[in-house]
Amino acid sequence: MGGDGFVSSLYLDKVLDEYILFSPKTLHLIRLDAESYELLDSIRKRGVEEGVSEFLKKHPEISPQDVNRVIEGLKALSAVPPYLSVDSKSSEVVPTSVALYLTSACNFKCVYCYEQQHGIPLFMIRDENDADGIIEFLLSRGSSKLSVGFFGGEPLLNFRMLRYIAETLSRRAASRGKTVNFSITTNGYLITPSVVDFFKRFRFNVVLSMDGPREIQNHNRPTKTGDPTFDVVMKNLRLLLTSGVPVTVRATILPEQIDRYFEIFRFFVENGVRSVHIEPASIGSDSFREIVSPLKEQLKLIAEYELEHIEETEMFRYSHFRKYFTILASRRALVYPCGAGRKLFGVSSDGKLYPCQRFVGMDEFVVGDVRSGVNVDSEVIQKILRNPPREPCNHCWAYPLCRGGCYYINYMYSGDIHKPDPYYCEFIRELIRLSMWLYVKVKRNYPVIFEKMLKSLDYYSPPHGVSEASADESKIKKEVGEVWSSRS
Ligand code: SF4
Ligand code: SF4
Repeated sequence: MGGDGFVSSLYLDKVLDEYILFSPKTLHLIRLDAESYELLDSIRKRGVEEGVSEFLKKHPEISPQDVNRVIEGLKALSAVPPYLSVDSKSSEVVPTSVALYLTSACNFKCVYCYEQQHGIPLFMIRDENDADGIIEFLLSRGSSKLSVGFFGGEPLLNFRMLRYIAETLSRRAASRGKTVNFSITTNGYLITPSVVDFFKRFRFNVVLSMDGPREIQNHNRPTKTGDPTFDVVMKNLRLLLTSGVPVTVRATILPEQIDRYFEIFRFFVENGVRSVHIEPASIGSDSFREIVSPLKEQLKLIAEYELEHIEETEMFRYSHFRKYFTILASRRALVYPCGAGRKLFGVSSDGKLYPCQRFVGMDEFVVGDVRSGVNVDSEVIQKILRNPPREPCNHCWAYPLCRGGCYYINYMYSGDIHKPDPYYCEFIRELIRLSMWLYVKVKRNYPVIFEKMLKSLDYYSPPHGVSEASADESKIKKEVGEVWSSRS
């Protein structure tokens, strides 16, 4: 990229109908008017002197003083110290969150099932002894706020152990002054009113795996015996929603369903779901590249829909937009892409530890066990902890908001947890661009709602971030923000 340093270090973009400026160094996100964008673009391409002179020739109505104010503001922005005052705690290995693999048994036979890919042997946490080992691991090594997510297979097939662990862990944690949050990822088929009561009693967050309207759900997620599942799962979703249990729907879609991505999102929100996560089944494989373009079109439709309904919802329902809104609002860059292998561990039913639930069953990713704890010296953990900036991330404007992408998806694509698929990167960057668009749109058009959204976020303690070094906020606002906002 040509042009002067202070401009080339910034990311300039037109996202839908908005011009934006993003500083990857300080995480400032500023909405530009068309002329300011043109000015910066001109400087970026030609350098300051020539860029400004070209711009002024085309815009005799704009005074050189105005242009100077913009340039001075930008210089002030580029002089802000980088966000990365690395917090040494972020590289400590302290299990605060475990993904507990209760069983590999399942009553469904989903068309894309990853357990079938890994050939996970049939396992279950058999008895209280097995469970006690896991509970003790958590209580003795974890922090004071623990999160436990139950996975499978279908975890409700092992409800006896699920209940034992939730009851015992809650009781023992309370006696040691610790708190525990529970979540479960379930296909929803075995949910009954008494299971819902149990979820409410232990304040579970439920992640319901459901793929969309009737024909999609029945095609993608039949029972083991090939029967349709839509009616039962939909009924149970309604039961969860009317009972006030917090629910995220997690849909997985096939490449041939990509043109229905937005429709699937809308199907769930119109049925009252307030949090929807949709993941293409082909992510992490070579074939993902074929769906990136249509997927980007679908993401745009979701972003526009979110904005259109923001007055009713006062928060985004699409999980990726919520995630990036939270990071942008916090203005804290990620130091790691997620907590895997540092705060979060997957635990198999036989007590082995993995960096997260997605790696459970992959022998090369065993990083300890519940008896001896995490092997911090293992190659996998060391690789996660080092996480150096590397190709292609060190040239990517999205790096502070992405930090290298999901280790599991990277590994599935390239065999290296730190080497992403460029098409997956395109998807991430599109998610971030649209999140930025939503950010500036809501901030400008719905300032009261924007403030409410900020207040509703736990953004003072983001899960994986560190705070930026001291930035002279007042100066930036005065010299940059106001110049542009007064012109737009
Ligand atoms: S989008 Fe891709 S290149 Fe950019 S930081 Fe993320 S993983 Fe790295
Ligand atoms: S490695 Fe991927 S799947 Fe695992 S916790 Fe991180 S982002 Fe999630």
